[in-house]
Amino acid sequence: MALLELRNLHVALEDGTEIVKGVDLAVNTDEIHAIMGPNGSGKSTLAYALMGHPGYQITDGQILLDGQDVTELGADERAQRGLFLAFQYPHAIPGVTVASFLRTAINAIRKARADGEDDPIPVPEFRKQLMGAMDELKVPRELAQRYINDGFSGGEKKRVEILQMAMLQPRIAVLDETDSGLDIDALKIVAAGVRKLAGPETGTVVITHYQRILNYVEPDYVHVFVNGGIVEEGGPELAHKLEAEGYEGFSPNGGGES
Ligand code: ADP
Ligand code: MG
Repeated sequence: MALLELRNLHVALEDGTEIVKGVDLAVNTDEIHAIMGPNGSGKSTLAYALMGHPGYQITDGQILLDGQDVTELGADERAQRGLFLAFQYPHAIPGVTVASFLRTAINAIRKARADGEDDPIPVPEFRKQLMGAMDELKVPRELAQRYINDGFSGGEKKRVEILQMAMLQPRIAVLDETDSGLDIDALKIVAAGVRKLAGPETGTVVITHYQRILNYVEPDYVHVFVNGGIVEEGGPELAHKLEAEGYEGFSPNGGGES
C-alpha cells in the first residue's frame, strides 16, 4: 500500500470542464516523483484537487492516504494528515504574519495528532525552529514579522513556501512550479531545502514545466503529463529526454513519439 495513491482521478472546474482525465499515481516516503508537462496541461489543477481546493471538483476516482479514502475530506483535514502543497502562485494574507501563520498551522497539526487535545508548541522551541529554518533557507529574519507574501518578491514567496514545508514536515509534499521565477542562487537554496526534507519520513512530488530544478533535485520517477493525463513514465533519464526534445512527441492518447 502506497502512502499516497491516486486512482483514476478526474477533476473538473466549477463550470464542469474536465481538466484532469484519469490519473493513477502512487507515492511513498523516500521517493521523489517529478510530474512534467507543458503549460495548461492541468498540473496545478491536479495539485489543487489533491489538496482539497473547493474550486476543483473530483468527479471520479479516489485519493488514498495510508490506504484511507480522503477524497471527501476538506483541505484542513488533509493538511492535518500530512499533505502539503507549495503553491505556484502563493497568496498574500494581509494581517497575518509569517510567524503567526506558521505557529497556527503547526498547532493545528499537533492538535489533530493529539486526538483533538490542544498541544501547542512552546514559544521558545517554535522560535528556535523558525530561526534555524529561516537561516538555512536564507530567508531574511525580518520576514517572520511581515504579513505573509504581502509585498514579497517572487523569490521570497517561493522560499517562504519551502520554509512552511520545512516547519510543517509533511508526509507528502507537493511542489507546484517552485522553480519558476527563481534565479540560480535561489533555485539552489530551494532545491537544497527540498532535498533535505525528502527522505524516510516524506514522499515528494515536484511539478514542473522545466527540467532545470531536476538538475538539483534528482527524481526517482518521472511522469510526463499532457492534456490532463500521464502519457509516459520512467526514471530520471526521461527528464533529460524531455529537456532535449520537448513535449511535442507525446500525444495525449499515449501514442508516444510521432
Ligand atoms: P498547468 O498548471 O499545467 O499550467 P492548470 O491546471 O493551471 O495547468 O490549467 C489547466 C487548464 O485549466 C487551463 O486551460 C486553465 O485555464 C484552466 N483552469 C485552471 N484553473 C482554472 C480556474 N480556476 N478557472 C478557470 N479555468 C481554470
Ligand atoms: Mg501550473
